Amino acid sequence: MKAVIMAGGKGTRISSITQDEIPKPMLTVGGKPILEHQIECLKKSGVDEVIIVTGHLGEKIKEYFKDGSTLGVNISYYEEDPDKPLGTAGSLYYLKDRIQDDFILIFGDVFLSVDFARMMAFHKANASDATLLTHPNSHPFDSDLIITDHNEVVAFDSKENVRDYDYNNLVNSGIYIFSPRIFTYLTEPRKYGLEKDVIAKMLGKDRVFSYHSTEYVKDMGTPERYESVNNDYANGLCEARNLERKQKAIFLDRDGTINVLKGFLTRKEDFELIPGVSEAIKMINASEYLCIVITNQPIIARGDSTVQNLDDIHRHMETLLGKEGAYIDGLYYCPHHPDKGFAGEVPELKIVCDCRKPKIGMLLKAAEDYNIGLAESIVIGDSTLDIKMAENAGIKSILVKTGEAGLDGKFTVEPTECANDLFDAVNSFLNKKERGRRIEKRN
Ligand SMILES: [Mg+2]
Ligand SMILES: [Zn+2]
Repeated sequence: MKAVIMAGGKGTRISSITQDEIPKPMLTVGGKPILEHQIECLKKSGVDEVIIVTGHLGEKIKEYFKDGSTLGVNISYYEEDPDKPLGTAGSLYYLKDRIQDDFILIFGDVFLSVDFARMMAFHKANASDATLLTHPNSHPFDSDLIITDHNEVVAFDSKENVRDYDYNNLVNSGIYIFSPRIFTYLTEPRKYGLEKDVIAKMLGKDRVFSYHSTEYVKDMGTPERYESVNNDYANGLCEARNLERKQKAIFLDRDGTINVLKGFLTRKEDFELIPGVSEAIKMINASEYLCIVITNQPIIARGDSTVQNLDDIHRHMETLLGKEGAYIDGLYYCPHHPDKGFAGEVPELKIVCDCRKPKIGMLLKAAEDYNIGLAESIVIGDSTLDIKMAENAGIKSILVKTGEAGLDGKFTVEPTECANDLFDAVNSFLNKKERGRRIEKRN
């Protein structure tokens, strides 16, 4: 498997690190250039050949990595003429003859820890021509976003647009897998912008997919960012989020836990966050846990709402949370309902399924998608269905006193804990964890 690393671009001086000008990819984290971290990460995922595109100060990169034999990969170079910049994709024109198969493309100034083998499996399973690694961030309102239709990329939503509409919190992280189809868009030796001149042209013609990942990807644009990457690396956070490793999650119910319970919610105007929810989710975002929403939505089977309308409600939820700097890592809903015989229902969804809570199908699907260890995870919800699901999966749960407050009478359950609301639940759970760790450390 081959990878191309774009390591041209301008040099940098971060005075605490070096007085000399060095190429940004040679900035060190934990005593090693970012580029070396990247190559090691690629190698772990099965990459055996790396092409580094160099520019200004490229000789410093070559001097350090040579042919790659000390790292156990084959490294070759393409040198850009610093006086004729080729943009973010123009150099690919010159690599046509060196690449025959699907390949990974990354930028050398990004610190990352990604399971590329997993991403490649997704790319292949979708017979994709361009796969973009996307993730949520804490400021979607001023980020460039990706618009998808069930993982297929349909448009780019520029941050320059006036965002008076709801959107999914889906940000392009600058990590790609391409099929050789990409070369048909690079027809002449000139400057190309990867997104604007290449991927945007592929939309609607080729298969372009969003690969949703919760892994660590951060560019080193500013000294502050550089420092935060160094801290995260020292704390083991970068590695911990690699999907090769088992993840932990806090699974949240939606109605009555995140938003105020108002019967069956079919209009996004009725979606109202419970006070403290954004803060609670921000605490999860800052922790080692993924934040995954698991919700029964029989309104689809009943014919009271369409999937499109439900997607709209979820975009609205993500927009409201995003404005507060909070995001969810994943969302799963069950559209089914078991009882047949109502006017307007959707017969094929009126089934006994494996995902409707208290069944554990949605937990299992999330666990598969994000390599989550359920034993380390927890469910927080307002209904006995949520607690029963946690019991069925053999994991811990917290019952909140908002929404149904556990008074729905469907099951007799014993939550591990009770809390006033989501904020209290998350606060108590994460603080206990923290206390536990401190005690562990002392011993
Ligand atoms: Mg609920
Ligand atoms: Zn279901």
